[in-house]
Amino acid sequence: MKTEQLAQEVAKRRTFAIISHPDAGKTTITEQMLLFGGVIRSAGTVKGKKTGNYATSDWMEIEKKRGISVTSSVMEFDYQGKHVNILDTPGHEDFSEDTYRTLMAVDAAVMVIDSAKGIEAQTKKLFKVVKQRGIPIFTFMNKLDRDGREPLDLIGELEDLLNIEGCAMNWPMGSGKTLRGLYDMHNQRVELYHPTNEDQRFVALDANGHLPADNELTADSIYQQTLDDVSLLQEAGNTFDPEKIAQGKQTPVFFGSALTNFGVQTFLDEFLRLAPAPSSHKLADDQEIAADASQFSGFVFKIQANMNPKHRDRIAFIRIGSGEFTQGMDVTLQRTQKDLRLNNATEFMSDQREQVKHAVAGDIVGLYDTGNFQIGDTIYTGKQALKYPALPQFTPEMFMEVTAKNVMKQKSFHKGMQQLVQEGAVQLYRNYQTGDYILGAVGQLQFEVFKFRMQNEYNTEVVMKPIGSRIARWIDPEQLDPAMSSTRNILVKDLHDQPLFLFENQFAQRWFSDKYPDVKLTAKL
Ligand code: GDP
Repeated sequence: MKTEQLAQEVAKRRTFAIISHPDAGKTTITEQMLLFGGVIRSAGTVKGKKTGNYATSDWMEIEKKRGISVTSSVMEFDYQGKHVNILDTPGHEDFSEDTYRTLMAVDAAVMVIDSAKGIEAQTKKLFKVVKQRGIPIFTFMNKLDRDGREPLDLIGELEDLLNIEGCAMNWPMGSGKTLRGLYDMHNQRVELYHPTNEDQRFVALDANGHLPADNELTADSIYQQTLDDVSLLQEAGNTFDPEKIAQGKQTPVFFGSALTNFGVQTFLDEFLRLAPAPSSHKLADDQEIAADASQFSGFVFKIQANMNPKHRDRIAFIRIGSGEFTQGMDVTLQRTQKDLRLNNATEFMSDQREQVKHAVAGDIVGLYDTGNFQIGDTIYTGKQALKYPALPQFTPEMFMEVTAKNVMKQKSFHKGMQQLVQEGAVQLYRNYQTGDYILGAVGQLQFEVFKFRMQNEYNTEVVMKPIGSRIARWIDPEQLDPAMSSTRNILVKDLHDQPLFLFENQFAQRWFSDKYPDVKLTAKL
């Protein structure tokens, strides 16, 4: 590809993830987007729990059994001249480190909030990770067709709970049964919820922000209320600030209802216009690489095994950071300095996984892997070595003691442990005193997947004894005295031999800090 063409292709990319609490409507809004993109023809096809039509992302057997996606997948489509990549971040019990790591591979995030519930626990956790990256965050307040909380309240909550400014891009005219439409100050129009005719859905506002006098809504008290709200917003609300948005300090807020496909297209259009194309990426040595540089580079943010039960292969998910990917290209794997030929890349949409011929910065490619890659690895072309920064580690919250049921299976047990831990789905710790294995994960399902795969791929039945949720805090080895361990914590070491305590609860952690005020305890992200 010529330099100019590459730059044009990169500029079309919009790579993002949707973060939300379970049931806020992420799947529903994703489906609407896929409908606009022409990827699916009817809603209800993405998560076919009830129909038995499993989603395109449900590869693993365990996923089929439970009807959920275990790990994030990628959905891509072209829409209005843009090439959109949506990276799925699983919620529910399948919440995992992959969910977090996926957020390292996107250029923007969409936060879907149930307007009746406001900001919920999982949204908060995911938001923290996105905020840390300083990327733009766009908010969709969903389920407007139901009675929700006051819109002003919802915007206020962004500031109070997430410490981010909310800037309303449109405003609901009523909600639930009284929902009339959206007052869209950004586009100077009203979007009607129930237009008599589809071509009358949008009504332009005049220079004063009013509907034409003959519009029947002008006599409606809800319209008057909206005008009051909007003028209040104009006086006291946050002013739209593209710079703050780019840094993730302000979030544009849109209202709508994903289920009734109301306000979704308005959101998508505006979001794609405001969201950034891939730009330059920071490298480990603080240098930067431009997305449209001729040098290809990318990093592995996820490894998933056994997506196709017929093959015992793994797929390494690469976020392209710069340049162009072509099938069969030769790259260097930074960690080992070995050369690799990239055959067998795969695209993710649809049941028939098609081979990707070309992809550019911003895109995700999946590479069939026979064990070359580790999470966080950098690959690049050319002589100039480069390395992406290490991916952050996330503090696990749930823990299990794990042993092989059959002592004769120790060898495959250890091999399986080692390989699965390398994929990064679970963290492995060893008890400081006894050396026993302890697994830690961000979400419960990771343990089940682990157990299932040990059985299926390594032919080893494992016994797992839950030790429940714990607070993991690392301690400086210099300050460590094994006598600090008590009945309210477990002293373990991680894969890098770094010591940490698994505290029973916050009380136990506080008790510890009171007793050893000079000891510094640290969490991962
Ligand atoms: P997810 O868990 O965030 O992916 O949420 P889903 O998209 O699966 O939605 C959870 C439930 O909320 C489903 O029953 C949806 O039909 C429903 N839902 C999603 N969006 C809306 C909406 O705009 N209005 C209403 N009333 N229900 C919605």
